Amino acid sequence: MTATQDTLANPGTVGFIPAPPERMKAKPDENRLSFGKIFTDYMFVMDYEDGAWRSARIQPYGSLMLDPACSALHYSQSVFEGLKAYRAADGSIRLFRARDNFERMNVSCDRLCVPRIDVDFALEAMKRLLRLEAEWAPSAPDTTMYIRPTIIAVDPYLGVHASEKYLFYIILSPSGPYFPDGMAPVRIYVEDEYVRAARGGMGFAKTGGNYAASILAGAIAQKKGFTQVLWLDGTQRRFVEEVGSMNIFFKVRGELWTPRLNGSILPGITRSSVLALAQAMGVRAVEKDIDIYELFDLGARGELEEAFGSGTAAVISPVGMLRLRNRDLIINNFQTGPLSQRLYDTLTGVQYGRLTDPFGWTETL
Ligand SMILES: *Cc1c(COP(=O)(O)O)cnc(C)c1O
Repeated sequence: MTATQDTLANPGTVGFIPAPPERMKAKPDENRLSFGKIFTDYMFVMDYEDGAWRSARIQPYGSLMLDPACSALHYSQSVFEGLKAYRAADGSIRLFRARDNFERMNVSCDRLCVPRIDVDFALEAMKRLLRLEAEWAPSAPDTTMYIRPTIIAVDPYLGVHASEKYLFYIILSPSGPYFPDGMAPVRIYVEDEYVRAARGGMGFAKTGGNYAASILAGAIAQKKGFTQVLWLDGTQRRFVEEVGSMNIFFKVRGELWTPRLNGSILPGITRSSVLALAQAMGVRAVEKDIDIYELFDLGARGELEEAFGSGTAAVISPVGMLRLRNRDLIINNFQTGPLSQRLYDTLTGVQYGRLTDPFGWTETL
């Protein structure tokens, strides 16, 4: 295989290794896409060695060769991001706050002793990959090109310390809605036994280890008929943190509440966008500690008007019911609330280019 080189910003050049024609895959049926199951023909890859990111290249999508001793596999030294490209009605492909994702990736890198990436370089590399794979970006309603940048530690030995070698890659997945039922309100189990992250841990970082800690509680909740769990703080198991892969919002007496970023909550870009959109709609948005028992009392008095999760994958996901031990709280009659709907419509409107973007959040590829 030959690599053709062309110049790009730091750390140098991006090579291109063409896929043999027989490895090019057939495009999926856009109307039947699920989330994160299909990947395109190419991926972006670069290596970290001898103190620098090198050998940036776009190469055929395929399995990685890793030493079985490699540290990402044993000690979870890895970080990732998740963002989307959106196909607008005019056929153009749009990005939403993509720079924020790569900046957050560097925050995760710092926490996990992973070397930082050059944000401009990573953005350019991602755009180049997206342009190459533009035909894969679906245009059916509510579909997107999900983008997964990842860094894994690949030192091939078993000592516990920061690796010296890393692999950065970006893969693309044409996707449908995260929850198969779309905007239908979900049932959430308030988890008061297991915790996802504690203050001082790595809850604010986007890293696989946080998800590993969450799988058992998620599986138990699913067996009981719940979609996800709502995590409480790691010390008192009393203050609301977040939901699986989403931040959480409550509309209480006309105000929008979300837990303040306390170190164990992932600072969602959708969360920050919802806060800004709510303010722009004239809804008072408050970041604060939210006591789950007080929240249930507010609910019992009819003062909890709406609840929803927010995240890139799920966008806005209304919560129809919360269970805390033996107490069930039905929210807004298990219906999508008007503010949740309006935030969903506005956010997706901006993302797909149906609405003007007063925030400067979007760009065309
Ligand atoms: C990615 C993620 C979110 C949502 O963040 P967005 O930037 O809005 O996609 C929330 N919680 C966790 C644990 C996450 O990993």
